[in-house]
Amino acid sequence: MKLAVIGTGYVGLVTGACFAEMGNSVWCVDIDAEKIEGLKAGRLPIYEPGLDEIVERNAREGRLHFTTQLADAASACDLFFIAVGTPPQEDGSADLHHVLAVARQIGAVIERDAIVVDKSTVPVGTAELVKAEVEAALAARGKSLAVAVVSNPEFLKEGAAIEDFMRPDRIVVGTDDERARSVMAELYAPFNRSHQRVIYMGVRDAEMTKYAANAMLATKISFMNEIATLCEQYDVDVEKVRIGIGSDSRIGYHFIYPGAGYGGSCFPKDVKALVQMARRVGVEPLVLDAVEARNAAQKQTLLNKIVARFGESLAGRTFGVWGLAFKPGTDDMREAPSIPLITGLIERGACVKAYDPVAIANAQKVFPQDWQTEERLIFTTHQYGALEGADAMVLVTEWKPFRHPDFEAVKRLLKSPAVIFDGRNQYDPEALAREGIVYYGIGRRNRL
Ligand code: NAD
Repeated sequence: MKLAVIGTGYVGLVTGACFAEMGNSVWCVDIDAEKIEGLKAGRLPIYEPGLDEIVERNAREGRLHFTTQLADAASACDLFFIAVGTPPQEDGSADLHHVLAVARQIGAVIERDAIVVDKSTVPVGTAELVKAEVEAALAARGKSLAVAVVSNPEFLKEGAAIEDFMRPDRIVVGTDDERARSVMAELYAPFNRSHQRVIYMGVRDAEMTKYAANAMLATKISFMNEIATLCEQYDVDVEKVRIGIGSDSRIGYHFIYPGAGYGGSCFPKDVKALVQMARRVGVEPLVLDAVEARNAAQKQTLLNKIVARFGESLAGRTFGVWGLAFKPGTDDMREAPSIPLITGLIERGACVKAYDPVAIANAQKVFPQDWQTEERLIFTTHQYGALEGADAMVLVTEWKPFRHPDFEAVKRLLKSPAVIFDGRNQYDPEALAREGIVYYGIGRRNRL
């Protein structure tokens, strides 16, 4: 099949590359000329394990094309995936202007009937807006073509995106159009061989399914973070509680890890957007408001623990931060808990030395330049470099090399006594105590 994927970010590039890998011809379109030039030269704009190999192979074998011009793709394709960003507006609702701009561009270039697929996460009712935009652009050209709009939300996880796309738990296809349904069935057939993974539903049902999925996962995390906060006050180890409740198959072990708060490009913005969708129709989003409020508090929890130990003023102190990306396996810094933590430390006068295996280049763009030139924020080239002479180590993102570090080296490098703030409960508090390391986790009998 021949298709265009518009937006070449985390979702669009993975989508395009994986469809090409299954033998389709794919045009990846982006307005960012630098991104497209880089991709043509074999440079990926994002870090995603395994993606470079698939992109390189499919580009070399002529199935994956990169362009800034939708018209280049339109002459070959009648299937258009919209995979552009839907960032939050000031009030938290999803900003649809990229999605609707693409819809207009599609209407401006197509010469035959088309199927437009919303892969971006968009509020209920957006498919109707997209159809109206495409048809208005067609009408402006004096054309009337049949345009079906499908909602096919994406459920991939950054860091495991290829595996998720190639072997999805489910593929949600929302459409009321028979032709669109059979085209989507054909496109997804290679991903659907071992058992039926495609779930068909109405367009609006599919749009809501994506928000409900992300909000449910965010709720599990915030719930567990609240339990962890209680555990600290009641002298309970939340890790024991986690194992105790996860063993109940109705609860399960997924997404009940307490931590430093959820971040990333999806959960924070999608919960906010759902809150706005609720308010717009007069529904008070009681649960969702609480999920957000707990997460905002949780993002302060490491900083609060550090202040409780070292005092309000952190002038003259240095902290070694392990992990900057919002989770392991990605270079994505959007809404990462490392941002409020590092900002709070530096604003209280501390110096921060930070290390991340892949996110440093993005982190350099996130934090103020003067912090970096004045060496209040130093990015190190090695994980242990971040600990040299520091008052404490703070684990924020649980990359694999951080999970089982050389604690002898940690003790040697940190000031004495060595102090660790473990934002992901990766370490055994008793083993660290035996090593003479002062340990603070999340919800682990170490109230400050
Ligand atoms: P992203 O910011 O990484 O990429 C978006 C791309 O769209 C950018 O390269 C941008 O230049 C391009 N773009 C913007 N306007 C354009 C236009 N008019 N024409 C062509 N290109 C244009 O975004 P992302 O993380 O890939 O997310 C895309 C959508 O997928 C969002 O709605 C998001 O909520 C959803 N989603 C994201 C993830 C994830 O893990 N990142 C997972 C599931 C769903």
